[in-house]
Amino acid sequence: MELRDSFDRKIDYIRLSVTEMCNLRCIYCVPGGREKTSRCSLPEKMPEFGKMLSFLHVARKYGLKKVRITGGEPLLRKDIVHLVREIKAIGIEDLSLTTNGQLLPFFAAGLKKAGLDRVNISLDSLDARRYMEITRGGSLPRALRAVRVAKEVFWPAPVKINMVPIKGINGSEIPGFARLTLENSFHVRFIELMPVGGSSFFFEGLRLTAQEAKEAIKASMGGGQKLLPLGRSGSSDNYMFPGAKGVVGFISPISGHFCDSCNRLRITAAGKIRPCLFSSREEDLSKASTEEEMEQLLLSSVLSKEKGSLLEKKVRFDSMQQVGG
Ligand code: SAM
Repeated sequence: MELRDSFDRKIDYIRLSVTEMCNLRCIYCVPGGREKTSRCSLPEKMPEFGKMLSFLHVARKYGLKKVRITGGEPLLRKDIVHLVREIKAIGIEDLSLTTNGQLLPFFAAGLKKAGLDRVNISLDSLDARRYMEITRGGSLPRALRAVRVAKEVFWPAPVKINMVPIKGINGSEIPGFARLTLENSFHVRFIELMPVGGSSFFFEGLRLTAQEAKEAIKASMGGGQKLLPLGRSGSSDNYMFPGAKGVVGFISPISGHFCDSCNRLRITAAGKIRPCLFSSREEDLSKASTEEEMEQLLLSSVLSKEKGSLLEKKVRFDSMQQVGG
């Protein structure tokens, strides 16, 4: 059995936010834009995990293949290894987790053993001071240690590095990040800054598009080297330098959204099923108890998926911390 939405897109991927809490307050993620805020965590509202598992079980029957655990910072959940084990046991082929890496070295081996296939690590600067400013307090040495540990523990799965380039802040680091792939099997992915968190004014004028990121890389290569196109994988448009060990990807939710190939649903940490990151529609998981009710919820969420980018309609801009990035 497989799930198809009203536009014949196959839905086999769920992004599951397991907490709204975060140990960092990245300037582009946490509400409040660049202002200093003491808000480093939001109340934990996550419903019974059993219910989420039952929902994933039902989705698995309908062909769910891929789950990404996100947040907030998923490693703040004390039971994260248990959650991973339970989700993998459903028969999920590709189970991944997105983290800021600050706590990853403590958990990596346990997560791998529990069935986690790979990780994405968010890393927005290779300069310690700038990293601390962007994350409002994060430690670059810790994040780099996480990258090294993840490379070893999850090998041969590549470590994916998520970088959000911002004009005048870390935009000048794009070529340096791309060059990390020359000697390492990393997938470095440049993600366009999205207007989330109720402070969209902050984002206008600061966004570097995928095209601008590509041009910055080309300009830094001085004409000699080329970025070879590898094609699209999920939401990422991938390239590589000749002979490089890793991949350079561009994720362009703004300049070239990938709605035509969208294959996902989202579950927020508050237990709401969202057809799209920017959707104002959501279904409440807590209202379903029986398998039939879960099935109904799954089908109605899939069928309520919109065709195109809701971003243009400026429908809903909750922070990534709330919805799960
Ligand atoms: N705490 C984890 C982390 O930092 O990776 C997972 C949650 S975080 C919200 C997931 C991803 O969302 C990160 O890679 C982050 O860079 C991205 N993100 C957050 N706000 C964003 C924004 N306004 N535009 C683009 N990406 C954003």
